[in-house]
Amino acid sequence: MTDKITANKVVTLTYTLRVDGEIIDQSRDGSPLLYLHGAMNIVPGLEEQLEGAAQGDTVTATVPPEKGYGPRIGEAQEVPRHLFPDDAELAAGMQVIAHDDEGRQIPFFITGISDEAITVDPNHPLAGETLHFEVTVEALRDATDEEIEHGHPHGPGGHHH
Ligand code: ZN
Repeated sequence: MTDKITANKVVTLTYTLRVDGEIIDQSRDGSPLLYLHGAMNIVPGLEEQLEGAAQGDTVTATVPPEKGYGPRIGEAQEVPRHLFPDDAELAAGMQVIAHDDEGRQIPFFITGISDEAITVDPNHPLAGETLHFEVTVEALRDATDEEIEHGHPHGPGGHHH
Protein backbone atom coordinates (compact mmCIF):
# COMPACT_ATOMS: atom_id res chain seq x y z
CA MET A 1 0.00 0.00 0.00
CA THR A 2 1.30 3.41 -0.96
CA ASP A 3 1.58 5.97 1.77
CA LYS A 4 -0.69 8.98 1.26
CA ILE A 5 -0.63 12.48 2.70
CA THR A 6 -2.97 12.65 5.69
CA ALA A 7 -2.93 14.47 9.02
CA ASN A 8 0.25 13.98 11.06
CA LYS A 9 2.48 13.10 8.13
CA VAL A 10 5.72 14.98 7.69
CA VAL A 11 5.91 15.86 4.01
CA THR A 12 8.97 16.92 2.04
CA LEU A 13 8.12 19.07 -0.96
CA THR A 14 9.81 20.86 -3.78
CA TYR A 15 7.67 23.65 -5.13
CA THR A 16 7.30 26.57 -7.46
CA LEU A 17 4.90 29.40 -6.65
CA ARG A 18 3.66 31.63 -9.45
CA VAL A 19 1.43 34.69 -9.33
CA ASP A 20 0.21 36.07 -12.67
CA GLY A 21 2.63 33.75 -14.45
CA GLU A 22 5.65 35.09 -12.61
CA ILE A 23 7.73 32.91 -10.29
CA ILE A 24 7.46 34.41 -6.80
CA ASP A 25 9.09 31.67 -4.79
CA GLN A 26 10.58 28.25 -5.28
CA SER A 27 12.46 25.67 -3.29
CA ARG A 28 16.15 25.75 -4.02
CA ASP A 29 18.08 22.69 -5.09
CA GLY A 30 18.95 20.61 -2.08
CA SER A 31 16.70 22.48 0.32
CA PRO A 32 13.15 21.22 -0.04
CA LEU A 33 10.36 22.36 2.24
CA LEU A 34 9.28 20.18 5.17
CA TYR A 35 5.89 20.62 6.76
CA LEU A 36 3.57 18.80 9.12
CA HIS A 37 0.29 18.03 7.36
CA GLY A 38 -2.81 19.21 9.23
CA ALA A 39 -0.89 21.68 11.40
CA MET A 40 -1.40 24.79 9.22
CA ASN A 41 2.31 25.07 8.47
CA ILE A 42 1.39 26.00 4.89
CA VAL A 43 -1.51 27.97 3.40
CA PRO A 44 -4.83 26.13 3.89
CA GLY A 45 -5.68 25.88 0.18
CA LEU A 46 -2.42 24.12 -0.61
CA GLU A 47 -2.71 21.82 2.38
CA GLU A 48 -6.23 20.82 1.26
CA GLN A 49 -5.12 20.03 -2.27
CA LEU A 50 -2.17 17.93 -1.11
CA GLU A 51 -4.39 15.68 0.98
CA GLY A 52 -4.16 12.13 -0.40
CA ALA A 53 -1.12 12.71 -2.62
CA ALA A 54 1.63 10.07 -2.65
CA GLN A 55 5.41 10.22 -2.86
CA GLY A 56 6.46 11.19 -6.39
CA ASP A 57 3.17 12.90 -7.20
CA THR A 58 3.23 16.34 -8.73
CA VAL A 59 0.26 18.44 -7.67
CA THR A 60 -0.80 21.62 -9.42
CA ALA A 61 -2.84 23.70 -7.01
CA THR A 62 -4.62 26.99 -7.64
CA VAL A 63 -5.28 28.70 -4.34
CA PRO A 64 -7.67 31.68 -4.11
CA PRO A 65 -6.80 34.52 -1.67
CA GLU A 66 -9.29 33.36 0.95
CA LYS A 67 -7.41 30.04 1.19
CA GLY A 68 -4.03 31.66 0.71
CA TYR A 69 -2.82 34.83 2.40
CA GLY A 70 -6.27 36.37 2.72
CA PRO A 71 -8.01 39.24 0.99
CA ARG A 72 -6.43 42.69 1.13
CA ILE A 73 -7.43 44.50 4.32
CA GLY A 74 -6.86 48.24 4.37
CA GLU A 75 -4.02 50.31 3.03
CA ALA A 76 -0.38 50.92 3.80
CA GLN A 77 0.36 53.90 5.99
CA GLU A 78 3.38 55.86 7.13
CA VAL A 79 4.24 55.79 10.80
CA PRO A 80 6.70 58.33 12.24
CA ARG A 81 10.09 56.72 12.79
CA HIS A 82 10.23 57.88 16.42
CA LEU A 83 7.28 55.64 17.33
CA PHE A 84 9.54 52.64 16.82
CA PRO A 85 12.17 51.79 19.46
CA ASP A 86 15.59 53.23 18.58
CA ASP A 87 17.18 49.82 18.65
CA ALA A 88 14.48 48.09 16.59
CA GLU A 89 15.96 46.31 13.62
CA LEU A 90 13.74 47.28 10.74
CA ALA A 91 13.91 46.10 7.16
CA ALA A 92 11.57 46.10 4.21
CA GLY A 93 9.68 42.83 4.00
CA MET A 94 9.88 42.26 7.74
CA GLN A 95 6.77 41.39 9.70
CA VAL A 96 6.17 43.33 12.91
CA ILE A 97 3.52 42.69 15.52
CA ALA A 98 1.73 45.68 17.02
CA HIS A 99 -0.76 45.48 19.86
CA ASP A 100 -4.04 47.35 20.02
CA ASP A 101 -5.61 48.80 23.18
CA GLU A 102 -7.07 45.44 24.09
CA GLY A 103 -3.79 43.63 23.65
CA ARG A 104 -4.77 41.91 20.42
CA GLN A 105 -1.91 41.20 18.07
CA ILE A 106 -1.97 43.10 14.78
CA PRO A 107 0.63 41.93 12.30
CA PHE A 108 2.08 44.46 9.85
CA PHE A 109 4.58 44.21 7.07
CA ILE A 110 7.21 46.87 6.59
CA THR A 111 7.21 48.01 2.98
CA GLY A 112 9.35 51.15 3.14
CA ILE A 113 11.85 52.89 5.40
CA SER A 114 13.12 56.46 5.45
CA ASP A 115 14.78 58.56 8.15
CA GLU A 116 11.44 60.10 9.11
CA ALA A 117 8.90 57.37 8.55
CA ILE A 118 8.28 53.67 8.30
CA THR A 119 5.68 52.50 5.80
CA VAL A 120 3.63 49.64 7.21
CA ASP A 121 1.06 47.55 5.37
CA PRO A 122 -1.47 45.32 7.15
CA ASN A 123 -1.49 43.04 4.12
CA HIS A 124 0.78 40.09 3.60
CA PRO A 125 2.68 40.78 0.36
CA LEU A 126 0.65 38.00 -1.29
CA ALA A 127 -2.73 39.03 0.16
CA GLY A 128 -5.41 39.29 -2.51
CA GLU A 129 -3.41 37.16 -4.95
CA THR A 130 -4.38 33.86 -6.48
CA LEU A 131 -1.47 31.48 -5.91
CA HIS A 132 -0.45 28.88 -8.46
CA PHE A 133 1.64 26.12 -6.92
CA GLU A 134 3.38 23.27 -8.63
CA VAL A 135 4.46 20.89 -5.93
CA THR A 136 6.26 17.55 -6.04
CA VAL A 137 5.99 15.24 -3.06
CA GLU A 138 9.57 14.12 -2.50
CA ALA A 139 9.11 12.16 0.72
CA LEU A 140 6.56 11.30 3.32
CA ARG A 141 6.78 9.82 6.82
CA ASP A 142 4.79 9.58 10.04
CA ALA A 143 5.37 12.47 12.43
CA THR A 144 6.80 11.69 15.86
CA ASP A 145 4.70 12.39 18.96
CA GLU A 146 6.97 15.33 19.71
CA GLU A 147 6.46 16.83 16.26
CA ILE A 148 2.68 16.48 16.58
CA GLU A 149 2.83 18.15 19.99
CA HIS A 150 4.94 21.04 18.66
CA GLY A 151 2.98 21.38 15.42
CA HIS A 152 6.05 21.35 13.17
CA PRO A 153 8.63 18.91 11.82
CA HIS A 154 12.06 18.41 13.36
CA GLY A 155 15.33 17.23 11.90
CA PRO A 156 17.13 18.30 8.72
CA GLY A 157 15.02 20.89 6.90
CA GLY A 158 12.67 21.16 9.86
CA HIS A 159 12.50 23.22 13.01
CA HIS A 160 15.59 23.52 15.18
CA HIS A 161 15.37 24.31 18.84
ZN1 ZN B 1 9.58 21.55 17.90
